[in-house]
Amino acid sequence: VSFENIIGHDRPKELIERVLKLGRLPHALMFDGPEGVGKTCFALALARRLSCEGDRTAACECRNCRRISHENHPGVVHLAPLLDKQEFPVEMVRTGVIEPLALKSMESGWRVFIFNESEKFNEASANVLLKTLEEPPPTTLLILETRSAGAVIETLTSRCQRIRFAPLPDSLVAGFIEKDRKIPAAEAAIVSKFAVGSIGRALSIIEKGLLETKNEFLDKYLASTNASLISTADELVAMVEGKTLEERRKKLYPLLDMLALYMRDVLVRRTAGDAEIFHVDRPELIGRNLPQVRSPEKLVASVESARQLVEENTNIKYVMLRLVRDYIEVKNAS
Ligand SMILES: [Zn+2]
Repeated sequence: VSFENIIGHDRPKELIERVLKLGRLPHALMFDGPEGVGKTCFALALARRLSCEGDRTAACECRNCRRISHENHPGVVHLAPLLDKQEFPVEMVRTGVIEPLALKSMESGWRVFIFNESEKFNEASANVLLKTLEEPPPTTLLILETRSAGAVIETLTSRCQRIRFAPLPDSLVAGFIEKDRKIPAAEAAIVSKFAVGSIGRALSIIEKGLLETKNEFLDKYLASTNASLISTADELVAMVEGKTLEERRKKLYPLLDMLALYMRDVLVRRTAGDAEIFHVDRPELIGRNLPQVRSPEKLVASVESARQLVEENTNIKYVMLRLVRDYIEVKNAS
C-alpha cells in the first residue's frame, strides 16, 4: 500500500497492485494524463514500492525510500526535456539511460527511468531508446509520461503499456490545497475550479497569485472603451511581461483561459441558470442583466482566436489590441 499518499487515481493504483501481485509488471509504462495530476508522484511511489527494504508503507524511512523521496537514488533517473527545448535531445537519452545501463551497476536492485513530456521525443531520440524499451535488462522499468499519448511518436507508444490518469475531482484538489497550503476552504474551492482536476495547476495558481491577476485583467478588459483602447491593450501587455516569448505565453495562456471561462459563466447565467460557474469570486460580474457583455459567444470566439494568434507567434501587443477592440465593438453594438 505504498500508494496511500497518492491522491485519487484509484484505477491506476488497482492496476499496478494487480500486476505486482501477479509478478507481471510490464517493463515499459506510459502514464497518460493532464499536466499536474500526479503522474510523477505516482511514478516515484512505484519506484519506492519496487526498491523498498522496509514495510512498503508511504511512511517507510528505509534507505531506498528516503533516497527516492529526496530524488537522489542513483537507480531512479528522472529525465525531462530542457526548458525551452521542444525536443528530447539524443544526448540526454544516451547519457541518462543507455550508458548507465551498460555499466556494471555498482548497486543491484531496480532501476527506474522516468521521462516527463514524452511527446517531445523525436525520431532520433526515440530510436536511441528503442532497443532498451524492447528488451531492457532485468529489474529495469521505464515510465514515459505524457499529456497526450496520441502526440507521442508511435514507435514508443506501441511498446508501452498505457495507463490513463484522469483529472482529479474538484473536491480532492480543493481538500489537498486547503490542507497543504493552509488556505481558507472558500478560496480553495475557487482555485480548484480553475485547476480543472490538476493539483499542479492549483499550486501554480496559488504561487503565482493568478486569481488576483485574472481579476485585474478582467476588470481592465471590461472597463475598456474606444477612448482607452490603446492604453488598456498596453496595460494588458504589461501584465504578461517576460524575458522570452515562452515566458510571456506562460503568463498569458491561463489568463485567456480564465477570460473564456468568464464568457462561459455569463452565458450559463443567462441560459442555464443554476449550472455551476467558475468565477464564483466575482458574482457581481456575472449577473443576468450585466450590460457590458452582450454577446458572450462572440467574445469566446474572440478569446480563442487571440490564443491561436499567440500560438502562431503573433506580436502580443497586436493580439491584445484585437482582443480589446473585439470587446468594445460588441459592447457598442446595441
Ligand atoms: Zn522503504
